[in-house]
Amino acid sequence: MRPCNVKAYVFNALLFCCVATLAQNAIAAPATTHKLAIALRDKALSSDQAYSLLTSLTTEVGPRLAGTDGDRAGVEWARRNLISLGFQNVRTPEVLVPRWIRGEASFEVLLPYPQPMVTLALGGSIGTSDQGLSAPIVMVQDISALKALPPGAVSGKIVFFNTRTERTRDGSGYGKAVSSRVEGPSIAAAAGAVGVVVRSISTSNLRFAHTGTLSYNISAPRIPALAISNPDANALERQVQTGQLVSVRLRVTARDLPQTRSANVIGEILGTDLAQEIIVIGGHLDSWDPGVGAQDDGAGVVIAIAAAKLIASMPVKPRRTIRVVLFANEEFGLSGAARYPADEGNKAIDQHVFAMEADLGDGPVWRLDAQVAPAQWSLIKDIHRVVKSLDVKLGTNTARGGADISPLRSRGVPVIAPQLDASTYFDLHHTLNDTLEQVSADDLKQSVAVYAVALYMAAMADGPIERLPNDPAAR
Ligand SMILES: [Zn+2]
Repeated sequence: MRPCNVKAYVFNALLFCCVATLAQNAIAAPATTHKLAIALRDKALSSDQAYSLLTSLTTEVGPRLAGTDGDRAGVEWARRNLISLGFQNVRTPEVLVPRWIRGEASFEVLLPYPQPMVTLALGGSIGTSDQGLSAPIVMVQDISALKALPPGAVSGKIVFFNTRTERTRDGSGYGKAVSSRVEGPSIAAAAGAVGVVVRSISTSNLRFAHTGTLSYNISAPRIPALAISNPDANALERQVQTGQLVSVRLRVTARDLPQTRSANVIGEILGTDLAQEIIVIGGHLDSWDPGVGAQDDGAGVVIAIAAAKLIASMPVKPRRTIRVVLFANEEFGLSGAARYPADEGNKAIDQHVFAMEADLGDGPVWRLDAQVAPAQWSLIKDIHRVVKSLDVKLGTNTARGGADISPLRSRGVPVIAPQLDASTYFDLHHTLNDTLEQVSADDLKQSVAVYAVALYMAAMADGPIERLPNDPAAR
């Protein structure tokens, strides 16, 4: 992140004080909004609030797998902090979530060169018997390579998805690789496989295994599935390349419990003359359990809270209501995201004019994307004018928004989508190593600055804000 120009900062700080004398409910002219947004940006760049909240979340709560005590502690942490930061209408509507116990997992090569490997069960995997499951492996690059094998080729075998994840700034490398983990196990089972091991969907060459959800298809038998770290996957690949029979044993003690309660956590900064119009900014409060969910999605949670809190302290209050929604159970089935529009009802969702989400780590933001009606593209350009000095490019008007706001996007709510730099995110995402130490306080400040400016300018913009066509495919 680049430090802001000191002279400009002093000027803006002065401006901030001057404008503070304006009436609380004044409607700012566009030029004034621009100046206020610059002052907001610079205030965000000097605020430690997001990092300090993230320190609290990761230290006092830790892992937050859906339905666990940690998840409930996360809900209480968020409720308490929103109240103490002065958010209004703080509430925690109940969300039912699946409850899965990870248990323990082990993976070892039996033949030709016996050795244990670093592993994690995939989220939702069934367990094995106590003795584990031993079988020869069949290595494939991906699902299409598996489907190209002759019938019976994987019967009674363990399929090894050796899919590599490409490092990309926009996270698209993960998107291309992840189907081996999500759909791979059921496709392998339908072809007769008895177990699955996947190369971690990760860009790290450190010895951390990467978990994440799998999706069992009801038409195929459920088989156990786990991931091994990238260095272990390389070693397993080398054993296969010797041309000898490779046999492995995997053991998983995971199991399901009945679904249980969690909650979305909601708090608002009320608007003034357009208070009935809602702008949602969201992140998800749950996390995978091996790490403490500092990047995924502790960073998004604190970006959302800190950006909204900075706006609450603006001398000219936002015209529209800013609603922070910390969604329950994104990782294991988007439970909170699905519940939110159902709780709100169609009439209330029609009052949602924009949605934003932070769920790709601490940043920095490198591009400003959106999907808005053509009439609102000038707003995106106005926002960009304020944040381009933070090394943010103007992007496209084809953004999908993140997973938790996809149900809103599918109902025609426009999205503003600052793109967080994901170049190193998938080194630690869903691993034991997703800790506070992997978060950059400076990157977090820059991300809060961009989100705050976008939120504030969207909340101040002249209306009406046009909706998008409904898009059921966005869900
Ligand atoms: Zn996430």
